[in-house]
Amino acid sequence: MSVFLCYLVELAKESTSLNWSLLYSVFSSNQNNVMVFTRGCLKKGEVSPCVMTGESSAFTVPQCDACEHPAVVEQAYSGRILCSKHLAKSVRKKISKELRLQLTLPKGQKTTIFVAISGGKDSAVLLDSLVDLLGENPDVRIVAGTVDEGIEGYRPPSIICAQELCDKLGVEYIRVSYPELSFHEMDEVVRRLPMVAKKNSSAPRLACSYCGVFRRQGINHLAASVGADVIALGHNLDDMAQTVLMNMSNGDLERTLRLAPHSASLVEGLAPRIVPLRWVPEQEVHLYALHRELPLHHEECPNAKGALRWRHRDLVAQMEADTPGTRHSLLHMADQIKGLRDEVEQLGGRKNPPAPAKACPSCGNVTSGEQCKACDMRQLLRSEEE
Ligand code: SF4
Repeated sequence: MSVFLCYLVELAKESTSLNWSLLYSVFSSNQNNVMVFTRGCLKKGEVSPCVMTGESSAFTVPQCDACEHPAVVEQAYSGRILCSKHLAKSVRKKISKELRLQLTLPKGQKTTIFVAISGGKDSAVLLDSLVDLLGENPDVRIVAGTVDEGIEGYRPPSIICAQELCDKLGVEYIRVSYPELSFHEMDEVVRRLPMVAKKNSSAPRLACSYCGVFRRQGINHLAASVGADVIALGHNLDDMAQTVLMNMSNGDLERTLRLAPHSASLVEGLAPRIVPLRWVPEQEVHLYALHRELPLHHEECPNAKGALRWRHRDLVAQMEADTPGTRHSLLHMADQIKGLRDEVEQLGGRKNPPAPAKACPSCGNVTSGEQCKACDMRQLLRSEEE
């Protein structure tokens, strides 16, 4: 008799809120496929492991709506119920379609794609898909890389996973650490933050505010070091919806307009960014990564809690549970705003375009201000030494 092992605890560890109306992976004693099954909205800590055995189980495993195999996910937003094979097909189709829309490959010209990977599921699926879809193209060079923020216990094991993934896929792998970019390691930033906030009341108080800026420079640095034409990022549908909601809450139209994907370079000297996973929900990315048996690092960064994104993550999850399709709507709205901007610009009607980018006088990186944000933050952190 097959044995189904719910490994909800494993998944619950990774999400603050699992608003999955139906999700499961299959575990059978002699095969390495795992089934997880639950209904309704689960909050972290509300789940416990349970083992179900065949017909005696209180659960009924629904059938895929495209074949006779057991389903692994119900897409509440589309009404579809899919087995792992058909889910993989649907995920691959979405990524492939987005890639065609977002990436232009000039004929007869070499295009280098830099893929930012972290060892986590999103960037693993991104790299695996790019290699799958473009790896045979002689005009495409794929290089993967990680920015090491210096977070003990979190980044080192994820780097091992990232390296393992690149070895498995035969992709060149590069890295850069914050000290190599003249930034403090994040563990040191966290240690300095209380003193920095004491000396300067307007200084950002969250570790992620510094890390986000430093990491952006790290990705740009790695991309430039391999002469990348394009930077690929593993943002999934949930990430994108959270960003749109965050920008709206902050009234930050400019950030919404700058949201990837970019059809061309936003700033001279910086490669445009593409986000081929942007229509794939996080849980489907996760299931796809399991289906593809990709090496994954599951831990959450210890500094993530308390970050603005963390709160929006719960908000978006709740909105999606209440009204399936909300994540898609948020992203469609951002696309429409960008489309309107393009129309207005074509008609010559944009009165206050952002200031053109120039080189930061301190570090030479591009900035639209007097000095780049990373240098501002570097100075704030050094003020602790004075
Ligand atoms: Fe950096 Fe914050 Fe992400 Fe941790 S959660 S890696 S501190 S941006």
